[in-house]
Amino acid sequence: MVNLKKDVQFIKSVGPNRVALLNKLNIHSVGDLITYFPRDYQDRSKPKNICECIEGQEVLIEAMPIARMSEYRTNRITISKLMLRDETGTCTAIWFNQTYLKNKFEPGKNYRFFGKITNKNGILEMQAPAFDNEGETKNTGKIVPIYPLTRNLSQNVLRGIMQNAMDEVYGNLEETLPQEIINEYNLMELNEAIKKVHFPEELEEFKQARTRLAFEELLIMQLALLELKNKYAVDMEGIEFSKEAKMSDVINILPFKLTKAQLRVLEEIDRDMENKKPMNRLLQGDVGSGKTAVAIIAAYKAVKSGYQAAILAPTAILASQHLESFREMLDKFGIRCELLMSSVTAKKKKEILLKLENGEIDILIGTHAIIEENVVFKNLGLVVTDEQHRFGVKQRTKIVEKGQTPDVLVMSATPIPRTLGLILYGDLDISIIDELPPNRKKVETYAVKKNMEERVNNFIKEQIKDGRQVYIVCPLVEESEEFDLKSVVELAEKYKTETFNEFKVEYLHGKMKNKEKDEIMQRFKNGEIEILISTTVIEVGVNVPNASLMIVENAERFGLAQLHQLRGRVGRGEYKSYCILKYDKASKNTKERMEIMTQTNDGFLIAEKDLQLRGSGDFFGTEQHGIPEFKIANLFEDIEILKMAQELAGRIIHEDPLLELEKNSQLNLKVMNKFGNRIDI
Ligand code: ADP
Ligand code: MG
Repeated sequence: MVNLKKDVQFIKSVGPNRVALLNKLNIHSVGDLITYFPRDYQDRSKPKNICECIEGQEVLIEAMPIARMSEYRTNRITISKLMLRDETGTCTAIWFNQTYLKNKFEPGKNYRFFGKITNKNGILEMQAPAFDNEGETKNTGKIVPIYPLTRNLSQNVLRGIMQNAMDEVYGNLEETLPQEIINEYNLMELNEAIKKVHFPEELEEFKQARTRLAFEELLIMQLALLELKNKYAVDMEGIEFSKEAKMSDVINILPFKLTKAQLRVLEEIDRDMENKKPMNRLLQGDVGSGKTAVAIIAAYKAVKSGYQAAILAPTAILASQHLESFREMLDKFGIRCELLMSSVTAKKKKEILLKLENGEIDILIGTHAIIEENVVFKNLGLVVTDEQHRFGVKQRTKIVEKGQTPDVLVMSATPIPRTLGLILYGDLDISIIDELPPNRKKVETYAVKKNMEERVNNFIKEQIKDGRQVYIVCPLVEESEEFDLKSVVELAEKYKTETFNEFKVEYLHGKMKNKEKDEIMQRFKNGEIEILISTTVIEVGVNVPNASLMIVENAERFGLAQLHQLRGRVGRGEYKSYCILKYDKASKNTKERMEIMTQTNDGFLIAEKDLQLRGSGDFFGTEQHGIPEFKIANLFEDIEILKMAQELAGRIIHEDPLLELEKNSQLNLKVMNKFGNRIDI
């Protein structure tokens, strides 16, 4: 059997230079190498007639030289030209500085050439084609893998390395899936699958190989999730919150009537809380669906049962806003809420920590500062994290460990297509608020090109003259943060001193100190600022009912889900609200995306489309959602495989909860390798 952990340097043709290059691609071991999958394939197996060749296509032709190769010398370049013909037409093959080819081709003999066709004034041409003698299949006559590369590593070299690796491992890889599964799902065997995914002879073979590998990858993830869920279910004893602590106490005094969806979700949470098994629940709901109220009511139940609650928010602005909402509803019950953020003074912090440990604070709301080690609760019973995608599971775990298996409620406004949500958050139970409070008006959305700028600016002015407030959001892309920041600041200055100089304009960006940000946000809330220009720091949760207009600059640079989040910042009050998406480059994809935004306000539908248009790689960027990256599976295209894998994982775990049976030993190993003994996604 092959040792997959063996260093890649032991593969034939891999010397120190190539090791360094492979390392750059994150390839360190033989296992890494053979699971470095092609991003695409070139079909060099089916020849075309020359007369069928079209400019821009990559094609294989079978042709013979009409004459010997001719050479031209210009400055430092030698151009070699070979005139070719088949029964249907002629074509010129040319090479640069490849003088060794001079006597390679004999007129009248057949060769095969593969390359990209260009049309030079009616004459077809192929530049530096790959070729084979008749009957040879070194470079043609097959399907060739295309890999993602790095500088100084060519396709040919990597392909060669991969071929050498295959020669070594093929036939010696230990099967990961139990035979009965392979039979049941009619899957390709592992050795075959690895070989055929790199070097398929037919496209059909590639498909089968890919299916097998994607199936395995998704199965491993599902097993890890189920195992984790199982651990919670079996091992842990949580808190049974009191039946006497009635959620209805709060519900009855709210200034509004809860929606049916909110009530349903609360019932689910209530049931979880009264149960001894610790709650691990994801609360999903579109922006503005009223998740905060749900969290407040759950926290009330925890406190009335004699426990403390912690509310974790991703930004200082949101934490402050939560404090306000919590106090507004819970003060009258004598419940004490406090705010802990890195910006509070040392003195105040000391006081809070002391009170927290004594149990003189019932609900602690804050940012990451809550996670710090010196924060000690007297008896933490409920943890709520807001906007889940900003916190990794690691952070969630850290705060959870501050209590004795407290109940956990994870809130997320990022709509994830239903099927995927159920599958991906396999370690959490899910509640969905699929209804907005009544009288919420639809935010009217327009997508406009740059040339509409003046009209947009006039519209902004009108809104402000009517007493409303306006957000202007600019994108900030991480790779060039400095550059973008500069452009945001420049734009803000221009708006401030020229375009909108008659109004009160301020700007906000992530690099500012929290205190500064809070101050500006607070002034915007109070109506002292009329136009707030910002990067996406206002993206989540902020509530300013008087704001009626959201302008998004360079909207093409945002994902749809993110645009939807931004749009959710307006339309929170009684005023008719608008969202204007300004875009620059009108590719087909951009147009399509803008159209979706103008047509629907349904976050789940938008998520579905987003996933479809961007592919799961972007949508489930590890950073955004904490979902593991897949080497081969694609969460959108492979939804059917995912469903099968999920169903199978359920059966396996049911039969063998800890994957201890001999037949599952390889699967167990894979789960451990990928996720450790505790999943960390
Ligand atoms: P999100 O789900 O985005 O966190 P919030 O909890 O911030 O939404 O709620 C948005 C606004 O709607 C808040 O001002 C809140 O007080 C209000 N709200 C919540 N539930 C209802 C309801 N059932 N009826 C009317 N207004 C509600
Ligand atoms: Mg919220």
